[in-house]
Amino acid sequence: MADCLFCKIVSGDIPSQKVYEDETVLAFRDINPQAPVHILVIPKAHIESAACVTPDNSALVAHCFEVIAQLGKELEGGFRVVSNCGPNAGQTVPHLHFHILGGAPLSLEMA
Ligand code: AMP
Ligand code: ZN
Repeated sequence: MADCLFCKIVSGDIPSQKVYEDETVLAFRDINPQAPVHILVIPKAHIESAACVTPDNSALVAHCFEVIAQLGKELEGGFRVVSNCGPNAGQTVPHLHFHILGGAPLSLEMA
């Protein structure tokens, strides 16, 4: 998707602080962290949101969660995974992403 911020991060047109990458998934640090550790995990393929997961792309989503589990091993005490979907949830980037938040006890409200 030419106009998508996260597709541009995938292509390298926009720089990011990568923490993990393989053929289909990328993880990088959120530019505006809401917790001591705030990582975004995305499929490299453009899927608009959690509302657009289908049998054709759900394996990619499962792989995102394998990556989340691996990255979460570094987060002693646990972590939170959040995916905002659509305007009511405050999704600002229309490319499916999972926020990993951790590094300290988190408030029960999600920023
Ligand atoms: P959401 O509001 O759930 O759509 O999350 C989008 C996230 O992307 C926000 O937490 C932003 O801080 C983050 N973000 C926006 N631009 C960048 C960027 N260039 N690099 C890293 N994170 C970004
Ligand atoms: Zn995209």
